Amino acid sequence: MEASCCKYFASEMCGRVADRAVQVHGGSGYMAESPIERFYRDVRLFRLYEGTSQIQQLVIARHLIRNAGR
Ligand SMILES: Cc1cc2nc3c(=O)[nH]c(=O)nc-3n(C[C@H](O)[C@H](O)[C@H](O)COP(=O)(O)OP(=O)(O)OC[C@H]3O[C@@H](n4cnc5c(N)ncnc54)[C@H](O)[C@@H]3O)c2cc1C
Repeated sequence: MEASCCKYFASEMCGRVADRAVQVHGGSGYMAESPIERFYRDVRLFRLYEGTSQIQQLVIARHLIRNAGR
């Protein structure tokens, strides 16, 4: 559960940071030549592989429900 929390939080936060970076750099941050574009594309993968964000949510929810009322 802790590992899922860490993976979920870090992946989502990384995505938010990359999205802000594109916004701050404007059109140039969106262009393929930009390292920001590469960063944005690379971190998007974190929400997919090694368990998507939705799967992490399922793992966390199952753990919380199992331990509810203990
Ligand atoms: C670049 C890249 C490298 C990869 N490298 C590896 C590797 O080295 N080793 C390896 O084993 N795999 C690797 N993968 C595969 C990766 O782990 C899978 O893509 C990932 O597990 C998601 O599975 P899927 O693509 O079949 O999507 P799906 O399982 O079809 O999911 C599609 C969408 O449905 C959602 N979803 C699925 N099931 C549920 C559910 N029960 N409840 C709610 N939402 C759900 C998902 O969250 C997602 O948004 C890689 C993938 C990529 C893109």
